Amino acid sequence: MTHQKLRERVCRVNRSLGRSGLVLLTWGNVSGVDRASGVFAIKPSGVPYDELRPEAVVVVELDSGDTVDAAGRPSSDAPTHRALYLSFPEVGGIVHTHSEFATAWAQAAQPIPCLGTTHADGFAGRIPITRNLRATEIEDAYEWHTGMVVAEYFDDHEIDPGATPGVLLPHHGPFTWGVDPESALEHAVVLEAVARMAWYSRVLAPGGPEAPECLARKHFARKHGPNAYYGQK
Ligand SMILES: [Zn+2]
Repeated sequence: MTHQKLRERVCRVNRSLGRSGLVLLTWGNVSGVDRASGVFAIKPSGVPYDELRPEAVVVVELDSGDTVDAAGRPSSDAPTHRALYLSFPEVGGIVHTHSEFATAWAQAAQPIPCLGTTHADGFAGRIPITRNLRATEIEDAYEWHTGMVVAEYFDDHEIDPGATPGVLLPHHGPFTWGVDPESALEHAVVLEAVARMAWYSRVLAPGGPEAPECLARKHFARKHGPNAYYGQK
């Protein structure tokens, strides 16, 4: 893929993010990677979504983190995206937002429990929350460590990032990913919806049960993996 094609795609999905209802002001960003070229493209820092043009999208080298083709500065979260691309080789696109209900769970420092099939259709099990970053990790290379703490959590808990395409950073907010930028955005929309539903459910039944595991597993398997049968062939 040429840099121009990648920029156009990442521009389009950032503009979709702006219309999605998930972000206020410029509180969110989308990136997409081209593994063959060893680069990813990401929203420039502080540019309103509806003013974003493909030429302004910043191309960053995956190995070095250097901007290689850019008119301006990348999103300040670019090192987090880079750490996730390097840690999760199957990921093709990443979205970060401060969407309200997902961020509320993050600020409460709680994973989002799987309370029903809406959640289980998109995420296998709870949407996890990482540990807090250490003071030294915040002071030095904060955004890079934000990505690495996600990779550490998934590794330590043997979670498949393909089946759990999102995470909460405590006292911060959600990151989601997918095989491409469009699917990463879809997962951000689903994560926010299930975060809102889980909030309502927990208000109605504080401490209520999570969905039976066999039900959750069935719903995830209907849509994902080798035996999926949801949708059209
Ligand atoms: Zn953030």
